[in-house]
Amino acid sequence: MPIPELSQLEQILHKHRHKVRTSCLAEIGHQNHRFPILGVELGSQQLHAPTVIFVGGVHGVERIGSQVVIAFLSCLLERLEWDEHFQRLFDKVRVAFLPLLNPVGFYQNSRANGNGVDLMRNGQVDAVCNVTPLVGGHRISPVLPWYRGKHGLELESQVLIDFVSDLITRSRVTLSLDAHSGFGLKDYLWFPYAGNVAPFPGLAQMFRLMQLFDTTYPYHAHYQAAPQSHFYTTHGDLWDHLIKGHKKATFLPLTLEMGSWLWVKKNPKQLFNFAGFFNPQKRHRQERILRRHTVMMNFLIQAAYSAEQWLPGEQAKMDYHAQAMQLWYQKVKR
Ligand SMILES: [Zn+2]
Repeated sequence: MPIPELSQLEQILHKHRHKVRTSCLAEIGHQNHRFPILGVELGSQQLHAPTVIFVGGVHGVERIGSQVVIAFLSCLLERLEWDEHFQRLFDKVRVAFLPLLNPVGFYQNSRANGNGVDLMRNGQVDAVCNVTPLVGGHRISPVLPWYRGKHGLELESQVLIDFVSDLITRSRVTLSLDAHSGFGLKDYLWFPYAGNVAPFPGLAQMFRLMQLFDTTYPYHAHYQAAPQSHFYTTHGDLWDHLIKGHKKATFLPLTLEMGSWLWVKKNPKQLFNFAGFFNPQKRHRQERILRRHTVMMNFLIQAAYSAEQWLPGEQAKMDYHAQAMQLWYQKVKR
């Protein structure tokens, strides 16, 4: 049985094959199948061009994250057909996609990959604070959720790390958005760390980026931006892993956590359907989610392109850092 999201992605990439650079980053074998992990690049091929990366499908059961990323990719490709302004923008900015990182998880409708490993706990980095029990990642057994794996990176994790690392080294500024669902009643934008209650090196720039979004789009302020450690702490977060490897780079990774509990509240029957915790079950609601994040995703591309306009210099950085500390690190719970 095919994976509908993967088939849709392949169709879109085929339709626009003259505009995209697609690579099969790995093939994951499972039972009698082999599933590709596809990486996509569009726009500038210049060294040091600013870059935005959109990632989806890290957790197989959170299908909506992958659907949001694929819908946005399709929207950009359609727009590149006719929008001259947009074509010029893409001469200067690179946009990369890893729309479905965990195909076996999609195939078997599980959070983990085919080995029972939660990829977002599989980074080779241990938390330096107390972690949320179980949810924070463990090595007890793949039968329990949030399993980190015995040792080493799973192939899917390695693919994400290699793909993002390569882009960081080719770009003067890298923004990323990794789309998930299944936490809370509202939409969150989380940034590192997941495994440390201290601020990450890009805190001042992240504060500035979030401030820019809020002041530019005050009627899209349905996101709550905060360090992930404010909600729960984990070992092995892949974005923590990447930050550790690229401390000097201007690299600002965001995780979009779509507030799916609200969909359950609006449609309580979803409680009897496991997928319902993570995905809208009604067509009109799914369509609403697919358009809900396009303003923010477009904003990230514009912000990367215009990074010199808003990235703070040394003096302003200290000022933004102080404001960010005031906002996010006044009362650390742990
Ligand atoms: Zn997730």
